[in-house]
Amino acid sequence: MKILVLNAGSSSLKYQLFDMDSGEVTAKGNCERIGAGGTVTHKKAGADKYFEEIDLPDHGRAIEVVLDLLVSAEHGVIGSIGEIDAVGHRVAHGGEQCRESTRVTESVIKYLESIVPINPLHGPPAIAGMKACLALMPDVPQVAVFDTSFYSEIEDFRYIYPIPYEYYEKDRIRRYGFHGTSHRYVSAEMAKILGKPLSELKIITCHLGNGSSITAVDHGKAIDTSLGFTPQEGIAMGTRSGSIDPTVVTYLMKTKGYTPDEMENILNKKSGLLGISGMSNDCRNLTEASEKGDPMATLALKIMTNGIKRYIGAYAAEMNGLDALVFTAGIGENQKNIRRMVCENMSYLGIEIDADKNENFVRGIPFDLTKEGAKVQTWIIPTDEEYMIALDTKKLAF
Ligand code: ADP
Repeated sequence: MKILVLNAGSSSLKYQLFDMDSGEVTAKGNCERIGAGGTVTHKKAGADKYFEEIDLPDHGRAIEVVLDLLVSAEHGVIGSIGEIDAVGHRVAHGGEQCRESTRVTESVIKYLESIVPINPLHGPPAIAGMKACLALMPDVPQVAVFDTSFYSEIEDFRYIYPIPYEYYEKDRIRRYGFHGTSHRYVSAEMAKILGKPLSELKIITCHLGNGSSITAVDHGKAIDTSLGFTPQEGIAMGTRSGSIDPTVVTYLMKTKGYTPDEMENILNKKSGLLGISGMSNDCRNLTEASEKGDPMATLALKIMTNGIKRYIGAYAAEMNGLDALVFTAGIGENQKNIRRMVCENMSYLGIEIDADKNENFVRGIPFDLTKEGAKVQTWIIPTDEEYMIALDTKKLAF
C-alpha cells in the first residue's frame, strides 16, 4: 500500500510517499516559494537529490508537479498515479469540531474554511492542497490529520483563558495547542520503549524546534500544552516571543503607534531567540556564540531553557508525578547544551541525565539519557509526524 503525505505551508509543500508494507519512504521532497516563483527539491530513495526551478503559482500546481515527479521515468517511484492508495494531509488547525483525524469531505473543507480567521497562515494552503487532490485524484481517499486533535480532550479549566467568557462562546478564543501529531507520536514511542501501556504513564514531551511546545501526556491523554490560541504562547522560540504580559503589547502599540499587523510581526518574526540575541534564531549559531562568550546569545538560551524548566515543573505538578521526559525535534534531538541546561538542578523532580550519554548521544534513534538510579526516564526520541499521518491515513482510508 502506498500513501502520499502532504504538508502544505504558506509558501511550501512538503511531501513523502510511504510504502506502508515496508514502512519506507520511497520518495520525498519540498516545493518552495509557491506564489513567488517556485522551486522543487525531490529525492528518490537511493538516488541523488533533484532540484528544479519551476513556476508554482499556487499549491494546486505544486501538487501537479509532485505527482509528475513521482511517476516520471527518471525520478519517479511509481508507474502511475493510480498506484497511490490514499493521501494524508497535515492540517495545522482543526478548530473545535475536527477532534480526530478524519476523511476529507466537502463538509470538512467547509468547516475548515469557516475557521480560516483563526488560522489565517496555515488554513488556506492546507485547504488548497485538499481541494487540488480531490480534483486531481477524485477516486483516491483523502485523510486530514490535525495538529490540534491530540488536545481535544483537554479539560475546560485548562483551555479557557481568564478573559470575559463571551470571547470563548462567541469568538472561539481558547487554547487549541499545536504540534499534537509529534507529541502523540513520541509519547507512544516512549511507552513502547519502556514496555508499558501509555495508559499507565505520566510523560512530558518537549518538541523543541524553531517553533516549540511542551505537552503533558497523562495516562495516554494530552492534558495540557504550552501553545495556545495560536502557536505564539509558551516558551521563547526561534523568532516568537512565547508568553509575555499581554499589557506589554497594548503598551507598545499605544506608545509606538504600532498597527496590529506590525505588532504581530514583532512578536512572531522578531522576538524569541532572535529578538534577544540580535543575531540568530538558530540554536546552533547561538550555542557557538555563547561558547565564545557572547552574553546576549547566552541570555537568549537561558531564557528559553528556563521557560522549558517552568513548564516541566508545572506539568509534573498538574500530573502529580512524572515517569518520563522526552526531547524531540531539531533542538531536542540535536542540541546537547539545551538538554543539559534544561535538566540541570531538576533532581527534586527525579530528572537526572547522564552527562556522558548526553555528550555522546547518537543521532536519529531513540536514545536513553537517564542517569543510573534516576526516578524519571529521560530520552531523545526523533519525531516522525509524517509517519504518524501515514498511519492514521491507512487506518481511516479503507
Ligand atoms: P521547525 O520548527 O522549523 O520544524 P526544526 O525542528 O527543524 O524546526 O528545528 C530547528 C532548530 O533545531 C534550530 O534552532 C537548529 O539550530 C536546531 N538544530 C540543531 N542541530 C540541528 C541539526 N543537526 N539539524 C537540524 N536542526 C538542528
